[in-house]
Amino acid sequence: MIAKKECTRCGRSKPSTSEHFGRRTSSKDGLHYWCRECDKSYHRERRAAGLGGGRALAQQKKLWAMEQKGGQCADCSMRFDGRTECAEFDHIRGRTSVLPAHSKITDLGWKKLAAELENCDLVCANCHKTRTKNRHNNG
Ligand SMILES: [Zn+2]
Ligand SMILES: [Zn+2]
Repeated sequence: MIAKKECTRCGRSKPSTSEHFGRRTSSKDGLHYWCRECDKSYHRERRAAGLGGGRALAQQKKLWAMEQKGGQCADCSMRFDGRTECAEFDHIRGRTSVLPAHSKITDLGWKKLAAELENCDLVCANCHKTRTKNRHNNG
């Protein structure tokens, strides 16, 4: 006879085995107080809300920033179609940046991010490299 355990989230009683409840070493019975289903849906909801950790939020900010800049490279007009890994922000020379040194644009809060976008061009990784190189060559 397997003991039952009531999930504190959905209130359903399920056998108190690791099959139904995730492991949680810090609790008395070694099992999570939520059933696996609830645990899953919790994480799914968190992801959907964009709260699944800093990385997801940074991704969301970058996507938003890309949209604000037209979603394509300022130099070669390549469309990013949501591919954040191909998109980079190039700070326009002579403009005062609100971005602290060694920070990413996505480290900023939404308001500052919007302000910083005014000082940046959206370019693809290739064009960004070319820009940096040209800048270097021109002193
Ligand atoms: Zn549950
Ligand atoms: Zn480009």
